[in-house]
This record gives sequence, C-alpha cells and structure tokens, in this order.
Amino acid sequence: MDGESMTQVTDHGGGVRSIRVPIPDNPLGYTLVYVLDTDRGPVLVDTGWDDPESWETLANGLAGCGTSASEIHGVVITHHHPDHHGLSGKVREASGAWVAMHEADASIVRRTRGTRPERWFTYMTDKLTAAGAPEEHVAPMRTAQPRNLPGLSPALPDREIVPGELLDLAGRRLRAIWTPGHTPGHVCLHLEEDHPAQLPGKGRLFSGDHLLPEITPHIGLYEDPDDATVMDPLGDYLASLERIGRLAPAEVLPAHQHAFTDAPSRVRELLTHHESRLTDLLSLLTTPLTPWQLAERMEWNRPWAQIPYGSRNIAVSEAEAHLRRLVKLGRAEAVTGSDPVTYVAA
Ligand SMILES: [Zn+2]
Ligand SMILES: [Zn+2]
Repeated sequence: MDGESMTQVTDHGGGVRSIRVPIPDNPLGYTLVYVLDTDRGPVLVDTGWDDPESWETLANGLAGCGTSASEIHGVVITHHHPDHHGLSGKVREASGAWVAMHEADASIVRRTRGTRPERWFTYMTDKLTAAGAPEEHVAPMRTAQPRNLPGLSPALPDREIVPGELLDLAGRRLRAIWTPGHTPGHVCLHLEEDHPAQLPGKGRLFSGDHLLPEITPHIGLYEDPDDATVMDPLGDYLASLERIGRLAPAEVLPAHQHAFTDAPSRVRELLTHHESRLTDLLSLLTTPLTPWQLAERMEWNRPWAQIPYGSRNIAVSEAEAHLRRLVKLGRAEAVTGSDPVTYVAA
C-alpha cells in the first residue's frame, strides 16, 4: 500500500478507525467512513459516494485497517444521502454484509427506486412554483434530461435500525438514537463504551451529518411527492440536537470534517444560530413574502446573485423549513388568499 492511502486512515483507538472517502466535485471533500471492529468482523458506519475513485479509496483504506471489503460483516447507515449510503450496495456485493437503516429513510430509498425521474422533476417544478420561484428559474427544469443523476438507484437496506435499541453487534455496545431533521430517518449511533483515552463523558457518538464541528447541516423540507403532510423538519432537528446535547458523549465522530469533544457546547452554538436566524427572518416578514422572496433576502455565505442554480433550490427549501417552524410557533402566518402563498409575522 502506498503512503497516499495510508493518510486516508485515522485510528481513533478502541477498535474504531476512519477512512476519508472522497466526494467528487463537492466542497465537503470527503465522507468519514468508520470501521468498527466486532467479534464477527468489521462493521462500517456509512460507506461513501458511489464513484470508482471513492470505491478505490475505501478498498485501500480497508486494506490499511488490515481487512478488505469482502470481510465486512455489516453496514450501519446514518441516513440515506448518497455521500453516506452510495457504496453500500457494492460493499454488500463484495461481502454479503447486511445493511441497516432507519425505517423513515428506508422508505425514501424504496420511493426513490420506484419513482421515475420525470415525476421528481414535475414535483420539484410544482413545488418551486408554489414557493414563488420566477418562471426563468423553473423553466429549465421542465426540459431537463434526468438521466445520470446520482443516487437514483440506492441499495435497499435489509435490516431496520430501531431507535433506542442496541444493534446486534458481537462484543460491542452500539445504541441507535433517532435524530430526525437533516433527513426524517437520520440516526446517531452511541458507542456505550469507555473512551479509549479516558476522556470525560459518556462513550463516543457517531453523529453522521447531525452534529458537525464547523458547519451547519442543511435542514430543508422532507421531499415526498406522495405525502402532503405538513412536517416541521427544523423543529425535529432542534429537538434532536437537545437530545444529543443531554447525552454528553466524550467524543463525537462525525461523517465530515473531524472528530471533536464537548458536544454540549457545539449543540448550544447550533441552537443559538437557529434561534437568531429565526429572529432575523421575523424582521424580514414585516411585509408579506413568498418563500422564494424570503430566501432572496436571507443571509447566505454569499450574495443571492452569486448563488448557483442548484443551491438556490436548497436555499428555498431551507427558507420554507424556517417558515414552517415560525408558523408552528405562532410567530408567523400564511396570508389568506395569497397565490403563491406569502407569509407575514404574526
Ligand atoms: Zn446528509
Ligand atoms: Zn453528508
């Protein structure tokens, strides 16, 4: 093995290593795939993006851990996104490993596999129009050629992750904690064992995208063409954050960036961030705005004019998630008879 692939592996001690599996053309850079030793063989937490280079990095990384893809006993998925679940099918093919996921995300996987791409485009077009997107933004989607989109045929999980229960792992105590918000079936996994370096706190937490050291995970609407239920993903996320803060793990092992300690203060930072964001939005809603108009006026990491096309869709979804929260809290309301619907501070 060459030095390059050696540097992709970090030993976190106590039978836990991570491999940096690259995400092509993405500012996040890589997914941290964790390799957890068990008495029946290594178990992966997430697998990485489905791409030849990512697969090769994972394979080399596993070799660096003294094992191989064919020896994997099981795969635990934090959530269905393609940078986490992308290579699960390949790992299962190579090894016969089981793949476990929370039911809410498993149902998204089933739906994605069963939905024609055209239907997604129609759904997205309708949703953006309803959110007040201008015709020049929506038009390209009507004629888009939805062929080689990534993640359109994700692997069907064959085990369910049941919140609150220990996973069936020989010789390890890994408990599933349901943390909806980033996706409806996101889970964190609590390794209920002493920290290998005796850091203070309760065990270690594989946090997926729920809790990251330096970035705020995207919280948008849960996308489902077949479900018109009004959900509150931001409310779910904030409640899940508080749950993780109370857990007080000694160390957090996230799916991007790097491991960190002091989860409660990171949780407080994120709660404060969202609270001040909601307050900022309320001050914008002194005049009625559509979700699109709100997104245009919100603060992003760059001016709206410089936000690329695809990121604008994500931004609008995030604006809508914040509006849902404000409505649920009774701090904003939809203006009766407006079309597309506008919202105003209550
Ligand atoms: Zn994600
Ligand atoms: Zn991710």
